[in-house]
Amino acid sequence: MSEHLGELIEVNDDNYFTKTGHFSNSFIKSWNTCAFSTTCRDNTFNKNFFIGHYVEALICGDDASKVLNREDYKEHVNKAGGDPYKWVTDCDVYSNRVLKDKEFMKYINHPASKTQVILTGVIGGLNFKCAIDLLNLEGLTSTSKMPFILDLKTTKDGLKKSVWVEREGRNKKVSFIEAWGYHYQLAIYRELVRQNYDVVCDVFIGAIQKTLPTNFDIIDLTPAFDFDFLLKEVEVMAKKVDYEIKMNIVSKCGTCDDCVSAKKTKGAISYEEHLAGLE
Ligand SMILES: [Zn+2]
Repeated sequence: MSEHLGELIEVNDDNYFTKTGHFSNSFIKSWNTCAFSTTCRDNTFNKNFFIGHYVEALICGDDASKVLNREDYKEHVNKAGGDPYKWVTDCDVYSNRVLKDKEFMKYINHPASKTQVILTGVIGGLNFKCAIDLLNLEGLTSTSKMPFILDLKTTKDGLKKSVWVEREGRNKKVSFIEAWGYHYQLAIYRELVRQNYDVVCDVFIGAIQKTLPTNFDIIDLTPAFDFDFLLKEVEVMAKKVDYEIKMNIVSKCGTCDDCVSAKKTKGAISYEEHLAGLE
């Protein structure tokens, strides 16, 4: 296995966010955004990721102080020059708002709901891992027996604002779910649950907006997407990344901090090239 993914080892709570030899949705997304930047860091840690984990821990009743005190996180926070205690200032307000919502918490507090379920499996011949925020293999009620996956997402303004993305050469307005590739992430979760438990889950996103007052929703994606088709797209993306890793094709986006830090000019550029680089 490559230096970018690491040697294949068993995944657990302590090493999940390190190189374990597995593909994941975030690795594929990161590689496709900027392969060079992906090779510059050990994981996809950033401030939003940290806040997301903290809010999830508060809502799921896990020990949130563990998020603040994880050694691997501390190292990244120090590198980013941040203060984790300041980062999580409003997190109690977001989570308390959700904790008071009976319908939302029915999913979380159900006796069969398990938090932070780590699973591995094989997709398109490649090793994958995922950490599912909430997995319930029994279903919510006696009349709704469908097992389900609930993924908690903290979002800046995703419950109100659409995002313009380029699809097949055209600009299209989509929700934050598609803009950030969460539908692919859930297709991976659904498949790894199927491989490990032989059940096909309904798929929900619990979205929590990082605003005051806090907006939030549980969004049922089950009928909205063809998850078998999305899984095929994941296979194609993963095989492309696997090929690039094997052939040592590490492309640069040219605009991220890592690319700018490693930039070398090749002499003067034209004014047109300068204009083309403007956001
Ligand atoms: Zn880059």
